[in-house]
Amino acid sequence: MGMFDYVAADLFCCYCGIQASQDFQCKDGPCLLDVYTREAFEDLIFEKSQYRLAGTCNNCKNNLQYLIWNKSAKHSEYIDQQIFKSKRNLQDEQTSQHPNHPFGGGNLCNYYVLNAYCNKCQEMGVENGSLPPDVTAEHKKLIEQQFEVFKEKSLKVFKMCDEISGVYEDDNW
Ligand SMILES: [Zn+2]
Ligand SMILES: [Zn+2]
Repeated sequence: MGMFDYVAADLFCCYCGIQASQDFQCKDGPCLLDVYTREAFEDLIFEKSQYRLAGTCNNCKNNLQYLIWNKSAKHSEYIDQQIFKSKRNLQDEQTSQHPNHPFGGGNLCNYYVLNAYCNKCQEMGVENGSLPPDVTAEHKKLIEQQFEVFKEKSLKVFKMCDEISGVYEDDNW
C-alpha cells in the first residue's frame, strides 16, 4: 500500500513561468505508487470533480500545488447520470404523492406546493407550486392550515426586520 500515485502533467510553474511535463504526486486516486497520464488518471477517478497535484518544479525547484478540474468525458457522463438519477427520484417521489402534495415554504411569504416534478400534475397542466384540482378536501384543508401558521411566522420575521432597521438608523449606520 503506497501513499500516493504519480500523475504526469504539463503545467505552468507559478514561480518561474516554465511549462514542463513532470510527475506530480496525487493522493486522490488509489495511492499505489503507480504512474498515470493525466487522461488515464482522470478516467480512473471519474467520480471526482477535482483532484490535487503536488510536486517540485524541475526548473526552479519550488514546491508546486495545483487543484485540477476533472475534464474527462467519463466524469461528465457520470455527473449527467447523477443529475438524471436525482431528478428521477424527485419525479417518483412527487408523482407518488399525487394528488395530495405536501406544503413547501421558503423565506418570507414564499409559499408553494411540492409538485414541480409530479408527472400527473404535468399531464393535467397544473402549475408548479399549486394544488391539483383532484386534491382531496381533507388535504386542502390541511395545507390551508399550514399556510396560516407559515404566514403568521413570516409576519413576525417582517416585524423583527423593521425593529432591527430602526436600531441601525439610531446608530447612524
Ligand atoms: Zn519553476
Ligand atoms: Zn401531482
